[in-house]
Amino acid sequence: MMLERFSLGIGDRFGRQGAAQLRAFQRAAEKGLTLVPVWNKSNREHNLVGTRPQATRDAAEAAVRTAGWTGSYHVDADHIGLKTVEGFLGCSDFFTIDVADFLGVSSSAAPVEAFVTSMQSFAGTLKIPGIDRPFVVTDEMLTTFGQRYALAVHEAGKVYRRIAQARGTDGFIAEVSVDEAADPQSPVELFFLLAALAYEGAAVQTIAPKFSGSFFKGIDYVGNPAAFAREFEDDLHVVAYAIQTFDLPSSLKLSVHSGSDKFSLYPLIGAAVRRQNAGLHLKTAGTTWLEEAAGLAASGGEGLAVAQTIYQQAYERIDEFCAPYAAVVQIDRARLPLPSEVWGWSAANFAAALRHDQSSAQYNSNLRQLVHVGFKAAAELGDRYFAALEGAEAVVGEGVTTNLWDRHIRPLYGL
Ligand SMILES: [Zn+2]
Repeated sequence: MMLERFSLGIGDRFGRQGAAQLRAFQRAAEKGLTLVPVWNKSNREHNLVGTRPQATRDAAEAAVRTAGWTGSYHVDADHIGLKTVEGFLGCSDFFTIDVADFLGVSSSAAPVEAFVTSMQSFAGTLKIPGIDRPFVVTDEMLTTFGQRYALAVHEAGKVYRRIAQARGTDGFIAEVSVDEAADPQSPVELFFLLAALAYEGAAVQTIAPKFSGSFFKGIDYVGNPAAFAREFEDDLHVVAYAIQTFDLPSSLKLSVHSGSDKFSLYPLIGAAVRRQNAGLHLKTAGTTWLEEAAGLAASGGEGLAVAQTIYQQAYERIDEFCAPYAAVVQIDRARLPLPSEVWGWSAANFAAALRHDQSSAQYNSNLRQLVHVGFKAAAELGDRYFAALEGAEAVVGEGVTTNLWDRHIRPLYGL
């Protein structure tokens, strides 16, 4: 199973926005862009919302029927490991194998030595076509890399083989993610990571490194966009060279996690990808949930009351809600409005504080991140939440489509 050149990870926490999401992909298709939707939902999200993996497949299939989507699509078991993969084997065809927890915990010297030995042909001066400065590769550097990555790569191999055993080697798309690692990987580290995965026999089609700068959920990139652009270009060269050198799938491409709302990066990413004739996978899951919340708030009445309730819960339980996302949110608590204040807001006030319109003085990125992790409160509302969603369906759906199309797909693909 080959992943198409351009794919967009979309998430739908509550499984109600798939058709509205697909309308954005249909607009892309009308403009001649083949963009493949991949519904990703992590085990973490399933646990927080109280859903089973099969629900994502069911919602995807229902959305495809409702929207009349005739293109291909995938369902991604996002951030899974050996302990969590089982429940996804039957219903996912895309697996994001997350081994960040195994980084830097190499227990024995043997796998590290084996790695250093296997990489001897790259020792000395390593030139990667397209990158003008050569990399100096020493045994010391390979050892350091091996100590940091050998166990993680071995673990990725174990998960990969488990999936292959259940689905057949051609029955799935594999991604390896290290985006929630403590430190970013340099382009040369990405090269050796791909090398190690290839030697492990993991035929990955997407790789999610941790890039420099910060990719917080639902808000713009925090960092130096020009420096990011240089790193991203180098990473694209690394991926192209790794495909040839290690006989990895020709569809191998970079995957950008926490990729929603990175408005300052989209033109840069898009230009680099087009210039190098590369592919791209970008995950935007959380932004659809935020549009759902903003649409509810904007519709007033019960929708607004539900949004205010979610905010109050998230505010009061901020530590609990943020804990699973510690690496990917950064909230300045002093800048969060008190729930009592938010209860006094109009529909327009709340929507303006939440919507990611950087030109609006009312936009509050701290509130937006808090609501991002607040979907658990929506899940706890249960039927009340779904009834409010139904009441606000038109406003929410329009917001979901417009957000993906105007703010994400168009700037990324220059449409
Ligand atoms: Zn991720």
